[in-house]
Amino acid sequence: MESPYSVVMPVTSRPDIVFARGEGGWLEDRKGRRYLDFVQGWAVNCLGHSPQVVVEALKHQAGLLINPGPGFYNAPMLRLAKTIVEHSVFDQVFFANSGAEANEGAIKLARKWGALHKQGAFGFVTMENGFHGRTLATMSATGKPEWEGLFEPKVPGFTQVPYNDLEAVAHAIDDNTVAVMLELVQGEAGVVPAEQAFMQGLRALTLEKGCLLIIDEVQTGIGRTGTLFAYEQYGIEPDIMTLGKGLGGGVPIAALLTRKAFSCFDYGDQGGTFNGNPLMCAAGLAVIETVAKPAFLQRVRDRGEYLRAQLQRLANEHALGEVRGNGLLLAMPTADIEATAIVKAAFERRLLINVPRPKTLRFMPALNVSVAEIDEMIGRLSGAINDVKQGGQDSGSTQ
Ligand SMILES: *Cc1c(COP(=O)(O)O)cnc(C)c1O
Repeated sequence: MESPYSVVMPVTSRPDIVFARGEGGWLEDRKGRRYLDFVQGWAVNCLGHSPQVVVEALKHQAGLLINPGPGFYNAPMLRLAKTIVEHSVFDQVFFANSGAEANEGAIKLARKWGALHKQGAFGFVTMENGFHGRTLATMSATGKPEWEGLFEPKVPGFTQVPYNDLEAVAHAIDDNTVAVMLELVQGEAGVVPAEQAFMQGLRALTLEKGCLLIIDEVQTGIGRTGTLFAYEQYGIEPDIMTLGKGLGGGVPIAALLTRKAFSCFDYGDQGGTFNGNPLMCAAGLAVIETVAKPAFLQRVRDRGEYLRAQLQRLANEHALGEVRGNGLLLAMPTADIEATAIVKAAFERRLLINVPRPKTLRFMPALNVSVAEIDEMIGRLSGAINDVKQGGQDSGSTQ
């Protein structure tokens, strides 16, 4: 019998269930089984599943205007851009539909700036184990060793160096370098934060060498690390920044931001059919107006500390190691246990968690996660770890 799933391209391994509803920290499948969600669409649903403010914003905007087209201004586009600019060191915004597209835009903007102001320099220094997306150029920027040799030839002009190694960056920069591009916490690499001294040194170095500093905050932005943007925690001002994931609270919207001095696209250089459409911008506005409130961000930091403490207690119990990360982007090493086995066992216990690396678990709950949900998650995770240790992960089925 043909599987009902076979009409969808198998680009990733998915469990044999179909999700039908979501509410806050919980997902429910078609059969009514409820799962506690600490993945939240890959750190996307920053206010949880179907949050009231986003639902209302979408309903309201859908009734007013869905799409006048990218060749015209619309009110949510202007209001969202103004709000992001007011809360950041940037002056101008270009809206995109995905993190990869925003990063692709950042690469184009830097190359345009290089063509205009740096004798055509087009090279980028990026980080080993970094992640910037799945378009061809952002795959070239990405330092994922697994992607080497895939979809060749890649876009030329990208050199990877070890993360947190200022000397390696200095060594890699040459006359053709137009920008250094990196994440402030390498999310896909297993939640590895940039060091303070590295980032401050990198800001000074890029200024000295006349290269742009591009920060990919697709995962770290919009409150994820406890401040609206992660760069605030480093005492630096980047030249270009990208946002995605959390910005729409679940709907596809991303952004490329820059300061006036580097905003050099001419008409026709950049664009896109759905870019800046009012429906997605209305969702983004509802999200940022909620998340940017100081009390909300304080609560993200408090809940992050609580989650970290509870995870560390569990890690100590099982001698797993140090919990890493900031705010509500945390990772727990699993020592010699396969993290995928824990995720499978957690799934049996109706808990969704993520594995960025073979021996690492990642936690990215909604930013408004409750203490009760954290306690519930820790209980299920603890059970899952015990299941794996007792070899129990094979006894259940995913049905
Ligand atoms: C997820 C992610 C991207 C890619 O975003 P998409 O919306 O999947 O294209 C880029 N950079 C970072 C840091 C990410 O975490």
